Amino acid sequence: MRKLFIAIFIGSIVGLSNPTFAMASDVASLKAQVDKLMEQALVIRESLRQVMLQQPAQAVLASTDQKQVALQVGHWKMEEVPWELRALDQERQAQGGGKMEWEVSLAIAQETAKILEAEGIGVTLLPAILPSIYRADVFVAIHADQNPSLPYASGFKVAASAFDQSGEAKRLAQLLGEEYRKATWLTKESYIPASMPYYYAFNSSKFLYAVHPATPAAIIETGYLPNPRDRAVILTNPHMAAQGIAQGILQFLKEI
Ligand SMILES: [Zn+2]
Repeated sequence: MRKLFIAIFIGSIVGLSNPTFAMASDVASLKAQVDKLMEQALVIRESLRQVMLQQPAQAVLASTDQKQVALQVGHWKMEEVPWELRALDQERQAQGGGKMEWEVSLAIAQETAKILEAEGIGVTLLPAILPSIYRADVFVAIHADQNPSLPYASGFKVAASAFDQSGEAKRLAQLLGEEYRKATWLTKESYIPASMPYYYAFNSSKFLYAVHPATPAAIIETGYLPNPRDRAVILTNPHMAAQGIAQGILQFLKEI
């Protein structure tokens, strides 16, 4: 029974329809088989990542000169998490005012899309798991914050991708910060945790489901969901938050 379970597990790791392997008589040799298959799977994944870096998935262009903006909704559709991102904690997201972080982020992203589309810009909303190596003119990940040890924490944070190769991500983050502060009454926090610039969806050096390094990419924590003051913007008036994000992106697109 145990052997059968492990056998199914080995097959499912590499997604083989007809896995072939010898029935091992002891756990040690089964572990060795798992290690070998894992190694092979990582080699295949790496080859695919290299190919995708050359031929990234990208938003369908409505016209050749239309700018394409990708807005990632933090934690949206986390149940579709692939094997390589299995370490992502599906439960770990902010909540407050009866809403989960993904719901609040989705409403802000939808409002941001409306503003950008009215300016003739193409917008694609992306879930937590990106298409493999995704290319666009701008990528912004939208989140809401929570700090269990500081229940009255307030403010927003913006960070540029640490994996950026466009040379533009820092400017994008700067403009997002300036415009978001103008559009909302929230203060910009100076402390940026490493989880922001090293956000998994920026990390195309490790993951397949990440943004292309030549895409200017930034992440915004729009405000604290447990704080009623911040919620008045991000939950009650998502249009305000969206205005800040959209204006930051519009300013950025004017420059590049
Ligand atoms: Zn989040």
